[in-house]
Amino acid sequence: MTTVARAPAASASASASTSPLLRVTGLGKSFGGVTAVDDVAFDLAPGELLALIGPNGAGKSTTFNMLNGQLRADRGSIALGGVELVGRRPREIWRLGVGRTFQIAETFASLSVVENVQMALLSHDRRLWSMWQRAADHRRDDALALLEQVGMRAQADRPAGVLAYGDVKRIELAIALAHDPRLLLMDEPTAGMAPGERHALMALTRRLVNERGTAVLFTEHSMDVVFAHADRIIVLARGRLIAQGAPAEIRAHPKVREVYFGSGRTFGEGSAP
Ligand code: ADP
Ligand code: MG
Repeated sequence: MTTVARAPAASASASASTSPLLRVTGLGKSFGGVTAVDDVAFDLAPGELLALIGPNGAGKSTTFNMLNGQLRADRGSIALGGVELVGRRPREIWRLGVGRTFQIAETFASLSVVENVQMALLSHDRRLWSMWQRAADHRRDDALALLEQVGMRAQADRPAGVLAYGDVKRIELAIALAHDPRLLLMDEPTAGMAPGERHALMALTRRLVNERGTAVLFTEHSMDVVFAHADRIIVLARGRLIAQGAPAEIRAHPKVREVYFGSGRTFGEGSAP
């Protein structure tokens, strides 16, 4: 009765046996005469780290802003666990489990580190238990547990405003995870960080998403970070998706090389497409 038929390894591809969390199809957005995003389609599985790269003006931010609801798609579909997101407000999309990391200015510099995370947990709890406002101790414990996970437990009671930049980024990650998103959007999470810190933050992100099964879509200017940490990469150029695949495939992809080398850029250390 409980016997589960296992698919023979050779008969089912990974993508066929794992249904995607996110399925984007035919996505399009125009601004006046400019087609910023044109017929873009990709899938994202739970626990997967997907990088979105492309030269300036390729449509990365526009794609992000359609995913989080700040921009409404003109065409196409964004389905999260089978639920259509196009046409929903940002808050509703957030409630459905699409989180994003916020920039430093959006954390509360005068609050302590742990209070910042408690604020995020409070906001999360309100969506679930609007009548329960008394779990301060639990929230503090949960906030401390989140800080432990990002390696910031020892700094819990310091004001967030005095932290080093790399530490602020860790707090931002803890705050984003307080909402327990199914999909986490990270727009240039390592901007402004030193190379060593960038790798540390992405390694931390990797460990946390593996533990939680969160799917991550991130943009990143540093190609060495992208190739070191992404499971898969999708490449936009002039609004169109020109390639997607594993880092090794993308590195060798003729169209991708043309876009980057053609504009004088390479995949060298610290290059900024
Ligand atoms: P990327 O993030 O990859 O640099 P964007 O998504 O910001 O690219 O921009 C894609 C294209 O859409 C560019 O040509 C840009 O000028 C245009 N664009 C983006 N946002 C707007 C807007 N709000 N109004 C008009 N044009 C825009
Ligand atoms: Mg952008």
